[in-house]
Amino acid sequence: MTKDQFIIIALDGGAGTGKSTTAHFLSKAFNLLHVDTGSHYRAVTRSFINSGIKPTEVNQYLIKNKFCLSSEIKERKSHLLVDQKSFRKSELRSSEINANVSDFASLESVRSLLFGYQRSQVEFAKLNKFNGIVMEGRDIGTIILPDAHLKIFLEADASVRSTRRNKDGESDQIVNRDEKDSSRKIAPLSPANDSVRIDTGTMDIDEVMKLIMGLIRKIQ
Ligand code: C5P
Repeated sequence: MTKDQFIIIALDGGAGTGKSTTAHFLSKAFNLLHVDTGSHYRAVTRSFINSGIKPTEVNQYLIKNKFCLSSEIKERKSHLLVDQKSFRKSELRSSEINANVSDFASLESVRSLLFGYQRSQVEFAKLNKFNGIVMEGRDIGTIILPDAHLKIFLEADASVRSTRRNKDGESDQIVNRDEKDSSRKIAPLSPANDSVRIDTGTMDIDEVMKLIMGLIRKIQ
């Protein structure tokens, strides 16, 4: 690709590996649309819970009910609206959502609901005149954007990741969540074969950014 070409970056990894911080910095440095697909799973989980729908009832529910998904951009970040409703951070990052999101995310009906929406974010970024897109999640390099120009998989020791979450003031069983996300049948958390693996447990954000900037320069 050339310098002026629209760049597509897939950023995957487990909970607390630093995806959001890295995506935020990349978005700022290159004017990329930042898409956090974890927040999509959190938003639909919030919607199901608000409607009193359990994971076992989702398939039936989605046969009769359609969610209307749309986006709004705030400071280079794309936010999902479900039936025109936006969500506050506190609604998406509560311990209730942390404890339930993986169960909803393991359902094929939920994943296919978001698949088209997430892929369409590339066109949405182009339409809104961004230089590219950085999409973070668990299956971006493997399933959502398999043709991404750069695929990064972040990793870090479990104790480092738990400490980060506690610092954020969040109650989150990240090891438990990662285990569920890695062992599910559909779209399990695993690095794409052509991804670059980065251990963020031993580096600060400046070092991680320097490394990724170098990778971007190589492909441009
Ligand atoms: O990234 P975050 O920790 O906010 O993601 C919340 C949950 O959403 C994950 O634990 C996982 O179950 C689900 N998820 C997913 N696929 C993605 C992104 C998130 O299954 N691409």
